[in-house]
Amino acid sequence: MSMPFTERLGALPLVDQHCHSVSGEDLDRAGLERYLTEAPSLGPTLSSFDTPLGVSIRRWCAPVLDLRPHAEADVYVARRHQLGADETNRRFLASAGVTDLCVDGGYGAEELIGPEALGQASASRVHEVLRLESLAESVARSCRPDEFASAFATILGQRGPAAVALKSVVAYRHGFAFRPEPPAPEEVSDAARRWWEEANTSGQWRLTDPVLLRFVLFTASQLGHRLQLHAGLGDPDLRLHRADPSLLADFVETIQPTGTTVILLHCWPYHRQAAYLAAVYPHVFVDVGLALNHVGPSAGTVLAEAMELAPYQKVMYSSDGFGLAELHYLGALRFRRALAGVLDRWVGAGEMSSDYAAWIAHTIGADTARRVYGLDKSSQP
Ligand SMILES: [Zn+2]
Repeated sequence: MSMPFTERLGALPLVDQHCHSVSGEDLDRAGLERYLTEAPSLGPTLSSFDTPLGVSIRRWCAPVLDLRPHAEADVYVARRHQLGADETNRRFLASAGVTDLCVDGGYGAEELIGPEALGQASASRVHEVLRLESLAESVARSCRPDEFASAFATILGQRGPAAVALKSVVAYRHGFAFRPEPPAPEEVSDAARRWWEEANTSGQWRLTDPVLLRFVLFTASQLGHRLQLHAGLGDPDLRLHRADPSLLADFVETIQPTGTTVILLHCWPYHRQAAYLAAVYPHVFVDVGLALNHVGPSAGTVLAEAMELAPYQKVMYSSDGFGLAELHYLGALRFRRALAGVLDRWVGAGEMSSDYAAWIAHTIGADTARRVYGLDKSSQP
């Protein structure tokens, strides 16, 4: 009888195929709680420690700070403060057991440490994920509306290939029910003119125009690169039903000839829909990052649902950790425990051999991401 996976997978090497950097600040309780919820506010009487994620921090992260499991929130915050941000970050990032971090630096970069510091604190390789809408917004600030289309294509052609993936938040900005064809050039220049007029009035360069969002997505698809798409849960900037990845089927089919690989990120509660797309389209992959942290003790159920239908080589790991190094650590821990629980059940029920289950663990944990993102070709740390 071989050792159960719940014991074997504690050291399973992982590639975190989508995450963000961490704060370098010494956070107080309010600062910490802000990173534990997708809500702008939980209201005056609720604490984000009293959520599936918050209770998981007290249970699983407290021991990394030399506290007993289930330490009280105030005790936790005080100990974190005593150790300081650098030591806290180093402990959690190093304990995550992640060899490679694919980091989306296009959101909240001003409050987070830079890629070099993140690489040092985690002792992991750091790879860039380039966020398309942020790139479009920065291009727009420095050109005229009639120059936008060619300026964006040029910059993307220069910066895109250096990133391991491109990332889109069209789920937040419009949703997935967009016309699955590239807009005509005149539509793009008309939409760009409208965008400039509005931005010059409001001072805001947030890209929400569906024509321009389509332009950005189809221009990116022409590179034949890897395209990460945020799907499912997020903050209330999105409308959840429009972030259902099954709405993307036409787009996914349209761009298939370009050679673009589509990676659906997070996906809850549509992880079954995402797994279906991964099952029927060769160029679609899926993860349940972010969700595993936020559902806490239910992580095993969610991962099992994502693994109901998707081929095992179409599922990957990510934490979507943002701000708190705890989320990188806890994401990895939740994933290993959830995966081990699923595999122990299947092996115990005689569904597969222990060797085959071990292959699944390595495939989902790291091997598929290494292949999809070409990580073995990139430079060593
Ligand atoms: Zn993210």
